[in-house]
Amino acid sequence: MTIDTAKTPPGVQPPPVRSTNRLLAAIGRRDFELIQPQLAPIELERGQVLFEPGDDVVTTYFPGSRTMVSLLIITRDGREVEAATIGREGAVGGIVSAGNKPAFGRAVVTIPGSALAIPTEALEVLKDASPAFSDLFSRYADALLAQLMQSVACNALHSVESRASRWLLATHDRAGDAIIHLTQESLAEMLGVQRTTVTGVVQGLEERGLIRRHRGRVEVVDRKRLERQACECYAAVEEHYALLLPEVDL
Ligand SMILES: [Zn+2]
Repeated sequence: MTIDTAKTPPGVQPPPVRSTNRLLAAIGRRDFELIQPQLAPIELERGQVLFEPGDDVVTTYFPGSRTMVSLLIITRDGREVEAATIGREGAVGGIVSAGNKPAFGRAVVTIPGSALAIPTEALEVLKDASPAFSDLFSRYADALLAQLMQSVACNALHSVESRASRWLLATHDRAGDAIIHLTQESLAEMLGVQRTTVTGVVQGLEERGLIRRHRGRVEVVDRKRLERQACECYAAVEEHYALLLPEVDL
């Protein structure tokens, strides 16, 4: 089946909506044709808040290949800690619930880049129209839930150094090169610890030759040793995702 280009003037290629988002890329062609007209390419900026707790989730985002979004839980005293990291393997927004439901956490862009946005209501219509689409999202919801459960254990039981290493690995997977654009301040916010704590941890990783610090950037120098430094959570989440969504090419 070919994509309907009836609305495209002769000789003009339709915009390359097919995303670098791996979840969307796993959708069959017929189903992708259903969603394609609804997808709007956008650029997400660092620190951009996609929704706050209590906001209606009117838009769902599919991060592109390097983009990363954190789901943060905010406490009453204003502190925050990351509950999940979502990149090209997933979606941010109306994953399970039908219609525009209030958000529980804050979604903020940690690594800027491209994304595709779709009205959450339109996504719901598509899930109803396509069992395959609905099934893919249900399995993704399970994978996201697994990550959230792992985060509970990770935040309670694992050292800041292991958690920082886990986060650097997940980001390195998507960065496309060894350089991760990340400030120690934002890493501290995501890990829910003081900046001075993160500074000490990052310094230790650098002294052992695992990473190198630059201004506003972190370079992964020794990926293998960083994997050994990270807690088990990184591999556990990745492996469970692969079991649930084997067709998604990460
Ligand atoms: Zn952990």
